[in-house]
Amino acid sequence: MTSARPTLYRDAALADATGPDLRKDVSVLVDQGRVVWIRPLSEEPELPPDVHVVDAGGSTIVPGMVDAHSHVTLPGGSHWIDRGADPPDELLDVAEHNGNLLGQAGVRWARDVGSPAAPDPSDGRRRALALRVRERWRKEAARPRLKVAGTWLAHSGVLPGMMIEADDGPTLLAAARSQLDDGADFLKLYLDGPKRDEAPWPADAVRAVVEMAHGRGAKVTAHSGFLAGARVGIEAGVDSLEHGFELDEEAATQMARQGTFLVSTLAVFRSWMSFAQTTTLPRFVGEEGKERTTKRRELAIESVRFARRAGVRIAAGTDFGGGSLRANHLAWEVESLVEAGFKPWEALASATVRGGELLGEPGAGRIVEGGPADFFLVHGDPLSDPASLWRVWKVAWRSEPHARTA
Ligand SMILES: [Zn+2]
Repeated sequence: MTSARPTLYRDAALADATGPDLRKDVSVLVDQGRVVWIRPLSEEPELPPDVHVVDAGGSTIVPGMVDAHSHVTLPGGSHWIDRGADPPDELLDVAEHNGNLLGQAGVRWARDVGSPAAPDPSDGRRRALALRVRERWRKEAARPRLKVAGTWLAHSGVLPGMMIEADDGPTLLAAARSQLDDGADFLKLYLDGPKRDEAPWPADAVRAVVEMAHGRGAKVTAHSGFLAGARVGIEAGVDSLEHGFELDEEAATQMARQGTFLVSTLAVFRSWMSFAQTTTLPRFVGEEGKERTTKRRELAIESVRFARRAGVRIAAGTDFGGGSLRANHLAWEVESLVEAGFKPWEALASATVRGGELLGEPGAGRIVEGGPADFFLVHGDPLSDPASLWRVWKVAWRSEPHARTA
């Protein structure tokens, strides 16, 4: 077996999202997928004799990003909901394509917050497709690392066909248990009900799910488009809210107090606004639809601002697949957070280290000596300009290994 040579990335800038300042003249030695050391160019220690040197001059090293809200088995686009009904084999192919897109965009981790269920060929049992993708990708070091929520748990009458439906507490709890039995890493509750001003379940039904999951070492997250559901989720002690499109100050304050994460997905609205130009769908093109999008977007931005001011930890997600974005669009969310008033380095932290905290993976979204060599290189300074995240030059964990010559 040939082993890869150590690689030196020489004379790059480094943006690690722990603060606003870019480090310059940095050299990073990588061996066996780990960061051996990070030093100023002028203080490089003696190099291993077989080192492969990458001249990284003019580029910036950025930690591999975490897409905290993704749906790897779904393609996205303006018909994103219809695509959920595609045959499972096609959705598994979509996942492989998404895996490439994620990697090329510098996304190391994807947190899958819902996939359709289909019979598993190994035992014929229906389970979330993303679980199969997770098992596949575990065996391939260059594939995105995945945490999987299984299939959405929702009240009936919300999105028929795709979700597991439960209309009362005991049914919900049983459905939640079945997801963990199938191997889900965490649970995803859909806290929008059939009526916009009513949560689908009472707080004690949700709390029973949270207690059961915590007892099994799993976390619970909740889709929250409207305030009524958000309130129930927070009261029941869910670990995070997805979207949080309609939070008020009180909700944000309680989230901060409890340590509830918010996963922002603001770029969803920018995507819909782009469809006003690129599609003929009345929902995006019609005046009424455009107005609704504008209004919801304003509320969503206000909600994220409440959360930021209250000190809620905020991780960034695209909602690709389960929404209209594509798997290589996380930079769009970072830009959207900056537009909402985040400093660029804070927005990058949301797409890296905060996401790692949410996943419970301390190495994710960080670059440290001894840690995984999960970084990518861009042109420009993402600590002052989020658009630089689109200009990916090299992805360390996907680089072709330079074999040792024996
Ligand atoms: Zn989603």
